[in-house]
Amino acid sequence: MSAAVDNTLKVSATARDVVEAHTLSQLQAILRAHPEALVLGEGSNVVLGTHIPGVVCLIRNRGITTEMRNGAVEVTAAAGERWHALVRYCLGRGLHGLENLALIPGLVGAAPLQNIGAYGVELAQRLVSLRAVRVSDGAVCTFSAEECGFGYRDSWFKSGGAGQFAVVEITLRLSTQSAPVLDYPDVRNELHALGVSQPTPVDVARAVIRIRRRKLPDPRRIGNVGSFFKNPVISGVQRNALPEAARALEAHRSNAGNWKLSAAQLIDRAGCKGERCGGAAVWPRQPLVLVNLGGATGQDFITLATRIRARVRARFGIQLELEPRVYGIDPEPLD
Ligand code: NAP
Repeated sequence: MSAAVDNTLKVSATARDVVEAHTLSQLQAILRAHPEALVLGEGSNVVLGTHIPGVVCLIRNRGITTEMRNGAVEVTAAAGERWHALVRYCLGRGLHGLENLALIPGLVGAAPLQNIGAYGVELAQRLVSLRAVRVSDGAVCTFSAEECGFGYRDSWFKSGGAGQFAVVEITLRLSTQSAPVLDYPDVRNELHALGVSQPTPVDVARAVIRIRRRKLPDPRRIGNVGSFFKNPVISGVQRNALPEAARALEAHRSNAGNWKLSAAQLIDRAGCKGERCGGAAVWPRQPLVLVNLGGATGQDFITLATRIRARVRARFGIQLELEPRVYGIDPEPLD
């Protein structure tokens, strides 16, 4: 028996079975029966091989609640809610802080795994805690933001703790006061183009939505997982040791005195813009994104990504890391 596994990359993939968990007790029962199950939301940040040998469990619980606590509003959302629907829900109730994260594809439960971020805001800044089911015994555990081990587009659940927990809900702290984050030139320019000088959170969300629609392929029409590579974060010492070609590239100050480089620019300048492998291709309007032009397999994406990484490394001495998780495909060695 095998069943199709939907994913936003639109690669054809099957698993032994695909089951849905609409409640906590259903999820616990599924994990008890299939502790090896691959837990997914919408498959918006995964590269899948043509066959996943085990069971895939789709998180489908629903519900959003709000509560006043210590002068702020805490919003608790089930993992099966759509992320953008949560952003809209909060904006519609005058709860601010998620507007820069508008239109990010995927479900709420996937958001903490890669600590979603955009335009100067990341989930870690808003998350108070999350609840997750431990796969080994079905226990429901609460993690504070600190215990989630958040990093740049990363968390403990994606790295050291991968496969050990299934997120069932997250709690965010939002504000009724408007405090727009306008650090990114794209956002400021878009607001300017909209004729807005004193932006409300709704204006910021509208600007972010317009930018994303223009720059990024809509996963409902063109298969993609958003960024396929993380923007490299390196220390000042590492930056000084890079070849001349790399030191001239765009770099932004990151945490702890580190520097964040633009993976899109590295890929572009390494000459990978028109690169393809089968139906997998670099998206010309944003080279950080790989798209399925039709019929691409997960392996095509990994082969293309391996080629891009090798070119970037040869030209700039920088190793790009993949952002999506990879299942059912042997990663190709680079050395
Ligand atoms: P961009 O705005 O052209 O920025 C390119 C790079 O410069 C990114 O590494 C970005 O860091 C950094 N950067 C730009 N302005 C900065 C500032 N004022 N301070 C600090 N760092 C700055 O990037 P883009 O590719 O069009 O994406 C726009 C935003 O959406 C970015 O935040 C990006 O991370 C996010 N995004 C995420 C995904 C995803 O799937 N994860 C997909 C598309 C876009 P950051 O990456 O830290 O912002």
